[in-house]
Amino acid sequence: RQADYAKLRDVEPFTRCGTRIQVMMNAGLREDISNLNLVGADGIGLFRTEFQFLVSATLPQRERQFRLYRDVIDAAGDRPVIFRTVDIGGDKAVPYLRSGEAENDENPAMGWRALRLALERDGLLKVQARALLEAASGRSLYVMFPMVSEPWEFDAAKSVFEDQLAYLKSQKKVLPEAIHYGAMLEVPALAEVLDQLLPRISFLSIGTNDLTQFLFAADRANPKLAERYDWLSPAILRFLRRVSLAAVGQPVDLGICGEMGGRQLEALALLGIGYRRLSITPVSIGPIKELVRQVDLAQITEAMNGWLAHPPENLRTTLAEWAAERGI
Ligand code: PEP
Ligand code: MG
Repeated sequence: RQADYAKLRDVEPFTRCGTRIQVMMNAGLREDISNLNLVGADGIGLFRTEFQFLVSATLPQRERQFRLYRDVIDAAGDRPVIFRTVDIGGDKAVPYLRSGEAENDENPAMGWRALRLALERDGLLKVQARALLEAASGRSLYVMFPMVSEPWEFDAAKSVFEDQLAYLKSQKKVLPEAIHYGAMLEVPALAEVLDQLLPRISFLSIGTNDLTQFLFAADRANPKLAERYDWLSPAILRFLRRVSLAAVGQPVDLGICGEMGGRQLEALALLGIGYRRLSITPVSIGPIKELVRQVDLAQITEAMNGWLAHPPENLRTTLAEWAAERGI
């Protein structure tokens, strides 16, 4: 199989009906950069910047952040790299940053983490913003904020970047050619205010790992619950379809960057509810490209619409049978 996937490296993921699907890669460390060309991804759809913080004994200084970001952008060339600002806290504790308050979080996944922490420790976000803006000088920069729960949090985070941009401009530095700001949708409440959010952003990426834990109130790190709730359940798929319908006709790029998109049946279901951009773990890129090439979008869309209107006993089994009948 590995040899087959290597063959798919240079193959563009067009569906059978001729639609180009974006298959991007999730990354977070310098070592991941080499995978980008190895697997033939369309760019990095999620660069988890907190990894550099998690593997460091002390707070990574601006220069070190800058070097990492610049090297990733260089390696990606013309392909986009979506940098997610630090998602620290929750299961990603950084001892040198946590304050007494955060350590008392009883539910860290729902606690003082990600943007909530970054907006209060805005020195952290300022340094990161400077490092990213400088690393992307003369290029396009894609910045994504994690755990946005209300639109004002997006505005507040963006204005930290805009302030740094103004500073760099005053210093006559070479600025990025374009800056695209986006949000992650992983807190269900955000889906209820998409009419307010979408006009503010240029892309939206759904973090199905956290989204699922919040939708089902099921800790993603609890092994007892790992098999309990299925990504192919009508609750999740209806939710995701509602979001994709809300984005139709809006100038917003929509994608999925949770682990769900890297699994064959899940990816098939996502194509059937309107998703055209998946950012997934590198080893899944080959298999998902292979899947994409066998899919007829009209067929899977019609099937998904039927199943979501009247859910079968077990959507996973039904979808698996449907796929097998078509040689997918
Ligand atoms: C997610 O929550 O789905 C996601 C992509 O982010 P992380 O797994 O880093 O929380
Ligand atoms: Mg997340």
